Amino acid sequence: MKKIFLAPIAASLTASTMLFSSCAPVSGPVVGNDGTVSVVRPSNTLMQQGLKEFATIKSKKRISSNSTYNAQLQRVASKLKKVIQMPGARWEFVVFEDSTPNAFALPGGKVGVHTGLFKITQNDAGLAAVVGHEIAHVTRNHAGGRQKQALGIGAAGLILDQIAKSRGASSADRVKLGALYGGAATVGVALPHSRRAELEADKIGAIFMAKAGYNPNEAVSMWQRFAAYKNKSGSRQPEFLSTHPLDSTRINALKAFMPTAMKEYNRR
Ligand SMILES: [Zn+2]
Repeated sequence: MKKIFLAPIAASLTASTMLFSSCAPVSGPVVGNDGTVSVVRPSNTLMQQGLKEFATIKSKKRISSNSTYNAQLQRVASKLKKVIQMPGARWEFVVFEDSTPNAFALPGGKVGVHTGLFKITQNDAGLAAVVGHEIAHVTRNHAGGRQKQALGIGAAGLILDQIAKSRGASSADRVKLGALYGGAATVGVALPHSRRAELEADKIGAIFMAKAGYNPNEAVSMWQRFAAYKNKSGSRQPEFLSTHPLDSTRINALKAFMPTAMKEYNRR
């Protein structure tokens, strides 16, 4: 009986989730004709959450003492920071001892890079492509968008409860459904960046690196190296790629954006 009851609920859940995730706010072009990139400020709460989360990661994860990696990251980051206007940002760039190729950014301006990423980035421009991409997630407040999506999923949970109630579900069943939904909502928070957010971060990252003096074509080469690594590692998909879906469509979109990025590179 329970199975019969839950099946249509699962269908409603999918429909509601889809409805909510398509509610992303519509914004104008992210790169103006004059090369300006618009910034979206996070809420103070989200910024505080980002700062707190980064402090926790720093206390739990081993910070790398590799002088080459640290020097390279600080060199690249200092050039990128100069071309980014983000009032209130508290930029910090830290190398963590971790062999998985990964990088992440948190609201407030905190960027972490794993030691394992350097075998793929290979040079300053390659690293600038990834760090520029991560910075773009911060300046466009993509975490805020995902949080909104998660809130949407939470609201969908409430609607589900109403559906369950209207179908005469016992309170025990509703608690069970709530627990099930709670799990889904947690997954929702850790959802990959949307394809749109990834493309946006790729493009803005390329603009940032171009303005900082790195040839943006290096971004294409670096993502191709990342894709090759992904194919070689097979099912052991790097963590970075589970939250940053990477495929030929994405690389082709970045390639198509190169004339715009090169304009910024030549404008300096
Ligand atoms: Zn990304």
